[in-house]
Amino acid sequence: MVIAKCGCEFSTNQSLVDKVRELAAQDKQMSNPALIDCECGKQIEMTTLVYKCPHCKMTYAVTPCSADDHNFIVKAGIDY
Ligand SMILES: [Zn+2]
Repeated sequence: MVIAKCGCEFSTNQSLVDKVRELAAQDKQMSNPALIDCECGKQIEMTTLVYKCPHCKMTYAVTPCSADDHNFIVKAGIDY
């Protein structure tokens, strides 16, 4: 279970990504881009609400309501 800052609940990280895409918010800019140490060993800067690591394609996402808090970023799998 994943809980967003607004209280929205998602059964999986993937369903959170689906929701952001449903809201057409996947390309929305992060107000505060997140530096992430990706599991591929590279440091990436997440600039949009759904972001794929340019090196390994790991997909990261955050809901619009939680975008200012990097603790709410989830990992949804490679090339999700
Ligand atoms: Zn990566």
